[in-house]
Amino acid sequence: MVCDKCGKEIHNKAVVCPYCHASTPNPVPNASYQPMSGFFLSFLIAPIGFFVSLVQFFRALKRKGLWLFPLFGIIISLTITITVVVLALAWGALVMELLRGAA
Ligand SMILES: [Zn+2]
Repeated sequence: MVCDKCGKEIHNKAVVCPYCHASTPNPVPNASYQPMSGFFLSFLIAPIGFFVSLVQFFRALKRKGLWLFPLFGIIISLTITITVVVLALAWGALVMELLRGAA
């Protein structure tokens, strides 16, 4: 692409012109948008952490922010939720089996 201000050839993805420092129409990466709450919620209340992380993940992608923590939040909350459900089902099956044996 060509700089609007000085007319020099610059990189297509450049955010500012390296010659005259004019800003280009390219969006500025927003590294300051780094949501962490979904990530921490995933450990405390996994189902809520999952939805918060999901929303924060797509919001971070849209704003070109950092999406790594929301992604970890999604993975961690999903893992915890699945583990809890599997354990609950296994526990339920065990109790049913014990009750059946006692009757
Ligand atoms: Zn320029």
